[in-house]
Amino acid sequence: MKLFIDGEKSRAICNHCKDIVSVTFVRRDVPFSDRKGAAQDILVGVCDVCDQVVSIPAQSTPAISESRKKALKSIEVRLPAIYLDVLDLAAFTLEPESTPEFRKDLVCYYIHDLAQDPNRLERVFSAHKLSVVNFSSKKSKIPSKRLSMKVSGKLKAELQRLEVETELSTTDLLKSVVCDIQREVLEKPKSSKIKTLQFLASVAV
Ligand SMILES: [Zn+2]
Repeated sequence: MKLFIDGEKSRAICNHCKDIVSVTFVRRDVPFSDRKGAAQDILVGVCDVCDQVVSIPAQSTPAISESRKKALKSIEVRLPAIYLDVLDLAAFTLEPESTPEFRKDLVCYYIHDLAQDPNRLERVFSAHKLSVVNFSSKKSKIPSKRLSMKVSGKLKAELQRLEVETELSTTDLLKSVVCDIQREVLEKPKSSKIKTLQFLASVAV
């Protein structure tokens, strides 16, 4: 088996250019076939003419299948930093001594809560509208931060079902979830939910 190294050149057929082209091996994020996430920093052959990925060497297969497995049970997005601030504030408001991990529990709780709600579509769309009104900035680029969580297969499936139903990307859906939290915890606290969440915040590690 031929092993390739970064920067190495080869030749391959490019479907986009419809020609045999010169190829350079570089590290790229490769989307999974179902488009739900991507494997990061995978060595691939890129067409020197159109910059499209034209070949994936055999040596990259284990890395792709490993990150596919990981992606099945994790949620990873980059959100504008303001959303993480809202999450921190909500977690702090519920329990000033809550652990940093609690904000992830909060997101998971809301994904599950939304998935169970018969009015979930209205709730997601109105929260999504809020996120566009409140936190979009055309003037300056807001720095983004990574939110990454390990979740159960069941919760991941609930999130994916919500994505399908709302036709929102994972990022937009999670922005909406944060705005839903902002609404129910910070702006118009729902006492029944607040009690449950405070209980969770006290026991979560
Ligand atoms: Zn090409």
